[in-house]
Amino acid sequence: MIVLKSPREIELMRRAGEITALALEEIEKHVKPGITTIELDKIAEELILSHDATPAFKGYRGFPASICASINEEVVHGIPGLRRLQDGDIISIDIGAVFQGYYGDAARTFPVGQVSDDALKLIEVTKQSFFEGIAFAKQGYRLSDISHAIQSYVEGHNYSVVRDYVGHGIGQNMHEDPQIPNFGPPGKGPRLRAGMTLAIEPMVNLGEFEVYTLKNNWTVVTKDGSLSAHYENTVAITDGEPEILTMM
Ligand code: MG
Repeated sequence: MIVLKSPREIELMRRAGEITALALEEIEKHVKPGITTIELDKIAEELILSHDATPAFKGYRGFPASICASINEEVVHGIPGLRRLQDGDIISIDIGAVFQGYYGDAARTFPVGQVSDDALKLIEVTKQSFFEGIAFAKQGYRLSDISHAIQSYVEGHNYSVVRDYVGHGIGQNMHEDPQIPNFGPPGKGPRLRAGMTLAIEPMVNLGEFEVYTLKNNWTVVTKDGSLSAHYENTVAITDGEPEILTMM
């Protein structure tokens, strides 16, 4: 069941989203060769707590940290630790904040120092695929119109879209209905309505779409070892244009 949010609820999600965006902005400032991912985690957690919010991921199904930090061929759910970022890495940061019971969820991939043109292009295409998708995040379209637009754009650039992980509804829970694949035919699924709040999150691989999970039971990596990028925002469907809640 898709829960529609009232204007008051969306106001709280706006604040949760703003705090999520602030945390990403703060992390971006610190993404440099030499920093460890656990240091980035601490920076994000402190920022979230200082805004009267709590980190959404910490403790979620036992996840030990406030951010997911996924480097290079890691797709999602990387666990922060003592690994130091190196010049030429790319790092995907996924982060969530809860404010007065409402969730914000967003992700970005950042270059570390000087990265290859291939890596930069992957990051850019992944970001743009989100915007191609939300061109259809309006009343009257169906959910899979978003999915199809993302897949078409990504595959048009000869990259692939991860199948095993998808976007999701969000609100008083981090994961609500509906699931939002980043692939599929258009014109399927529920019609979009004002008050729906969706975390739309393309995960894009430079090589093939297959992934697997490491023995730590969290970190998802590309099967072929190719680079992967992630771009996510929490979005509210309105009477008109979609409102992105997790961008400053
Ligand atoms: Mg998400």
